[in-house]
Amino acid sequence: MDEAKNFIEEIIEKDLEEDVYGQRVHTRFPPEPNGYLHIGHAKAICTDFGMAKKYNGKCNLRFDDTNPIKEDTEYVESIMEDVKWLGFQWDELHYASNYFDKLYECAVELIKKGKAYVCDLSAEEMREYRGTLTEPGKNSPYRDRSVEENLDIFERMSKGEFADGEKVLRAKIDMASPNITMRDPVMYRIAHVHHHKAGDKWCIYPMYDFAHPISDAIEGITHSICTLEFEDHRPLYDWFLEQLEWKEAPKQIEFSRLELTNIVTSKRKLLKLVQDGIVDGWSDPRMPTIAGLRRRGVTPDALRTFCYETPLTKNKGVVEFAFLEHLIREDMKLTQPRIMGVLDPLKVVITNYPEGEVEYLEAENNQEVPEMGKRQIPFGREIYIERDDFMEEPPKKFFRLAPGKEVRLKHAYFIKCEEVIKDENGEVIELRCTYDPETKSGTGFTGRKVKGTLHWVSATESVDVSVRLYDHLFNEDEESGESILNENSVEVLEGCKIEASIKDAEPGSRYQFFRHGYFIIDTEDTKDGNIVFNRIVSLKSSYKPPKK
Ligand code: ATP
Ligand code: MG
Repeated sequence: MDEAKNFIEEIIEKDLEEDVYGQRVHTRFPPEPNGYLHIGHAKAICTDFGMAKKYNGKCNLRFDDTNPIKEDTEYVESIMEDVKWLGFQWDELHYASNYFDKLYECAVELIKKGKAYVCDLSAEEMREYRGTLTEPGKNSPYRDRSVEENLDIFERMSKGEFADGEKVLRAKIDMASPNITMRDPVMYRIAHVHHHKAGDKWCIYPMYDFAHPISDAIEGITHSICTLEFEDHRPLYDWFLEQLEWKEAPKQIEFSRLELTNIVTSKRKLLKLVQDGIVDGWSDPRMPTIAGLRRRGVTPDALRTFCYETPLTKNKGVVEFAFLEHLIREDMKLTQPRIMGVLDPLKVVITNYPEGEVEYLEAENNQEVPEMGKRQIPFGREIYIERDDFMEEPPKKFFRLAPGKEVRLKHAYFIKCEEVIKDENGEVIELRCTYDPETKSGTGFTGRKVKGTLHWVSATESVDVSVRLYDHLFNEDEESGESILNENSVEVLEGCKIEASIKDAEPGSRYQFFRHGYFIIDTEDTKDGNIVFNRIVSLKSSYKPPKK
């Protein structure tokens, strides 16, 4: 079936048809290394790399490191790791800071053409002169400096003769333009700060709007894909390249940012969560960062599918987090083994089962995928079941265990509850049951039926682990739609009992725990024989995927 094309594909295909860039398609992903990438960036990565892949083109990774104040090499490394983990490999790796010389030359060229000038207005004065959406701006008194004077001052700015904020270089465009971005925007500012890559060579730094089109052009980018907030900047993007007479100038295309319910995607807000210690770093499994999603257990396949299946348009829209969860379940349903884990154990003694005996019962690793093979699970006189699978005084439709009631144990036998043991506070601490050897799973027993099937583990052969259950980091206020921090976004359970088959599993291994959801062995906190599981997603879902 022919998939409907999105608007970016339409633009690219038209350009290919008209030979605008020959038959070249060259995109780039240009993160600023000032934080870890989040799920919104995953959407941008899949779009930038995805388009290049689809049209046999190239995609660069370019660090947009023109603002030295907030940037760090830690972020550079995490970004490369995240892009690779998502399954992409860049054709070229670049840093905008490598273009500082070239950008300086371009600025000089614009000054010589009378298209840029040094302005001494303070930041506040500049704001006043800029005008508003309804009023035109006023020309700066420095707008008519001669080319010679501008060249001289700009050079002296670069040599460190002036203090931060004393002067800026501005493009000379139109202070009355209805588009405020075009009202003589700043191209260079003075900042006496160390740059993570360029060192102390520069004390003037180019602004994004000036650096970006030129960086794209230097790399031979054809389609410069970004998000909608840059739409108003496109005329400026085009203006710089036009003034510099760039041939085959790249084309900026904007799409609407990915937004999700229960998620904040702003590096600034995420950084605050990290700095305030609300989360355990950028890779906390609750974080919407790629590192957090990875540690949570989300697969790159599920995340890519999510990015491709959410709309790529110019319309704003919020995607339900439940859609991502749905895709995570879909991705793991047929790929991960299904085992048994008891999160809140209640001991069951099977009184008619021989003491000290262990038998091994055969279980399919994934009932829907026979190729995944089988394993043997130990069964014995003492087992654990989930505490809330027993009720002393059950309501009508409770089909799990209760005094005198019979249930099926998954992969094993029917058991019947004969006696309830309590401690001095009246709390149930043990159940005495009998089992019926005739009802062994897989033997085709049809003598009688039971409604409930419980998961369980052997008390002597299971592994003790910690399990973390997650909830959203933010809830949305029903009225204002604002994100409110959820104080209970993680619940840590100790002393959970998991099937012995996981004993030697590597951190990062994923499982479905029967009736509980999908889990991963945490890669950072699993150590010294203490296994920690993160719940990736529960099995329950009210989410209905849209019909295709
Ligand atoms: P933030 O506001 O979270 O700091 P940013 O846009 O400043 O994000 P950049 O490092 O500049 O972060 O982004 C790199 C690329 O990722 C840009 O092209 C940007 O448009 C894109 N991007 C960022 N957030 C999203 C999002 N939510 N959805 C889609 N693309 C995004
Ligand atoms: Mg940005």
